[in-house]
Amino acid sequence: MSLNIIVMAKQVPDTRNVGKDAMKEDGTINRAALPAIFNPEDLNALEQALRLKDKYPGTKVTILTMGPARAAEIIREGMYRGADNGIVLSDRAFAGADTLATSYALATAVKKIGDFDLILGGRQAIDGDTAQTGPATASFLNIPQITLADSVDIQDGWVVCTRVLESRSERVRAKLPALVTVCKEINTPRYPTLPNIMKANRKPITVWAAADIDADTNETGMPGSPSSTKKVFEPEKRGTDTVYFIGSVEEMAAQLVDMLENERLI
Ligand code: FAD
Repeated sequence: MSLNIIVMAKQVPDTRNVGKDAMKEDGTINRAALPAIFNPEDLNALEQALRLKDKYPGTKVTILTMGPARAAEIIREGMYRGADNGIVLSDRAFAGADTLATSYALATAVKKIGDFDLILGGRQAIDGDTAQTGPATASFLNIPQITLADSVDIQDGWVVCTRVLESRSERVRAKLPALVTVCKEINTPRYPTLPNIMKANRKPITVWAAADIDADTNETGMPGSPSSTKKVFEPEKRGTDTVYFIGSVEEMAAQLVDMLENERLI
């Protein structure tokens, strides 16, 4: 059995390394001042695709990203780790997209790719943090979706996953073709290898504009985005009062109980 896997990956500003130039005066992110990286959980999605490729020889892994031209950097990085191909959706018509317009563009590109069994993505991007893009893309494609997966395998035409929830795990399956978003606990991404680097440097990266995927430009970029950011601000810090109890353990316990009773907390 071999699979065609598409990995949705986003190039994001490295928010773990924020300097003083990172924010503009209007509170929006100054992307130019931040190093750009492969969204961490998308590396986990890629690693999972590569593990399926190791298990099922003949499997093809294609990375799909939407962003400015420099987003091709993560495709190259993905190829260094073992991906076969990469496609960048880059066009002014995609700029200013919210999650709905992003998902529409990604789903339209997937339709153009045509032949796929499984789409893997990260649970969320570290800049937007909405975790909406995976589910919305599956919805545009009208295929089943599984979110928050910490294991992914294929059995008899189904994708079988474990989902990590707060107090329990779930084992679920979906008929292929399907979309799965993974969380960081699923695996440890492999490093690039020299043979992959040499092979990847000879490979072209496909760049598609809106017209290449027959996207309706009323549904992409700003025209296709029903949400807009009104204001970005830091929430006011709430002050906390520290209360110290003095005395023996029994006296301090009694004072604590009195306080909780007075506050009607017990
Ligand atoms: P999540 O939904 O948290 O991502 C989940 C997963 O989906 C990722 O792990 C990845 O697998 C996949 N994914 C997400 N985005 C992509 C992508 N682009 N390509 C491939 N896979 C992806 N951002 C800009 O850079 N420029 C703008 O001008 C801009 N304008 C915006 C305007 C509005 C009104 C809003 C609301 C957002 C705007 N954004 C802009 C942010 C951008 O739309 C989101 O970053 C994007 O839609 C993805 O959402 P997210 O970051 O929350 O990703």
